[in-house]
Amino acid sequence: MAPYEIVGEVKRFNQRYTAFSRVNWDPTCVAYRTPAKTADEIAAQRKTGYSLEDFALHSGAWAMARSLPGAGPGRQPERGEMEPCETQLDRRYEPEDWPAFTRRVKRAARFFGASAVGVARVDPRWVYACDQQERLVELPQGMNTAVVLAVAMDYRMLRSSPSAWAAAATGNGYSRMAFVKACMARHLHELGWNALASGNDTALSIPLAIDAGLGEAGRNGLLMTPQYGPRVRLCKVFTNAPLVPDSPIRFGVQEFCEVCKKCAETCPAGSIPRGEMTPSGPTVSNNPGVLKWYSNADKCLAFWRANGVSCANCIRSCPFNKPLGRIHDWARLFVKVRSRLANRALVRIDGWLGYGRQVAPENGVPR
Ligand code: SF4
Ligand code: SF4
Repeated sequence: MAPYEIVGEVKRFNQRYTAFSRVNWDPTCVAYRTPAKTADEIAAQRKTGYSLEDFALHSGAWAMARSLPGAGPGRQPERGEMEPCETQLDRRYEPEDWPAFTRRVKRAARFFGASAVGVARVDPRWVYACDQQERLVELPQGMNTAVVLAVAMDYRMLRSSPSAWAAAATGNGYSRMAFVKACMARHLHELGWNALASGNDTALSIPLAIDAGLGEAGRNGLLMTPQYGPRVRLCKVFTNAPLVPDSPIRFGVQEFCEVCKKCAETCPAGSIPRGEMTPSGPTVSNNPGVLKWYSNADKCLAFWRANGVSCANCIRSCPFNKPLGRIHDWARLFVKVRSRLANRALVRIDGWLGYGRQVAPENGVPR
């Protein structure tokens, strides 16, 4: 059973109403009315983590994503612009053992650079109704399976959020995601199957990732994975190969988020709710019908524009965002018990140990 509750009619969402799109055209969006600061303006303020060198690191990290359409939040791809959807081969590899083949496809995904991978049958409700240019979105016939790929972002870089160094970790995640999804699609093409590589376009990545067993939704509105918490970027490859789907997982996120509000406390924009889950959100960028925590992306993007780069405080401060290691594995076992008392204790210990606090970029960048 999926770790979310549908409590109303879920309509296919129009991508033009995402905050990333509305920031360009909708005067009711607070981010639209917030002037975007330039790197030069911010660098002149001489704040740590916002020097011209830091902004250049950020631009370098984004380079791959920005040169490939559809990889990041920018320009949308025309179909087939980056990778053709249809295989060019007239033969098709039909494995005898689909579960074993599915495992090998996942292994290939990890080889290409995915940190985690899952497979889901595509729930048509998660496919966008229209794209940012209001063109109707329909997946090609038979493309009802998604290989969902998570790319982990650099832990130490993100500790300096909301600086340009932390935003470089995000850009690096988008660039690697562009690489991974293109490789995955080509791999399937070479086996005679159709495959469509997708970043933020075509369908909502988070519910697909939940269906693919990669994690649960958190209070911060992000996918929470067992291994990296919310410190991942997501992409997917749609295919007509009937790979074996994974089952959704539950590992105590919802119960933990009920007692932990660290993301809401560290959000500089007040975007993340502190109360209970609700069936709808505060702006037209929220697609209603699922009981969850809805964040206010308008306010979030307004902060990004004033900050000059994106922010990741809700990732940095999350107790699930930890480097891999034995001690953290033990803590994750406690979370699985879903005890309110134990969860409260873990949130406190997390704070005492200093996890989630902002660190100066000089200490955050990996050597
Ligand atoms: S990215 Fe920053 S501003 Fe946006 S919701 Fe997260 S913490 Fe708030
Ligand atoms: S910071 Fe706490 S409340 Fe927010 S998503 Fe992470 S665990 Fe949940």
